[in-house]
Amino acid sequence: MRVAVLALQGAFIEHEQVLQKLGVETFEVRQLQDWQQPKDALIIPGGESTTQVHLLNSLGLLHPIRQAILEGLPVFGTCAGLILLAKQEDGHPREGLCTMDIDVCRNAYGRQLGSFQATGEVAGIADKLPMTFIRAPYVHRALSPEVEILSEVDGRIVAVRQGHQLATAFHPELTTDHHLHQYFIQQINRLSA
Ligand code: GLN
Repeated sequence: MRVAVLALQGAFIEHEQVLQKLGVETFEVRQLQDWQQPKDALIIPGGESTTQVHLLNSLGLLHPIRQAILEGLPVFGTCAGLILLAKQEDGHPREGLCTMDIDVCRNAYGRQLGSFQATGEVAGIADKLPMTFIRAPYVHRALSPEVEILSEVDGRIVAVRQGHQLATAFHPELTTDHHLHQYFIQQINRLSA
């Protein structure tokens, strides 16, 4: 198994380290040539979604990545990655990969409460998962019944799945609990079986 990790900006190294610990080969996507390598899945890290969209556009990566996800490539987006996957922001269409039927709220917790830790259940994946939120978004609502809500913290949706697409508002790569990455690997295996 080979997982592509979008490495334009943000917390991509931590995702690579977790996957490597779990015995999965990774490679970084920094330009179109990297993206053309064979891959079984993609991780979109946290960082700054506006910068990531801008870079994806200028490097000619936005369209091919979007197409691959629409064709079924398993994807896991965390924090800014979740924002990139969302079709809407505050009820309006947004610019990005726009492959997930979710409406997001960015920087939902304000500057003062920008970063915090929580522990929450992720349905079918972990009972008490440590969650690190950094200027995190949350999901206002699912836009289609295909979206499964996996976790809510303080009444806000923070983890969702839509078929082969998985997204969290928090950063699972910044803790030592690797349940979500393990789950993603299982999904990749299941989808390629
Ligand atoms: N607030 C950032 C954004 O809007 C996301 C923060 C993160 O990925 N940790 O892109």
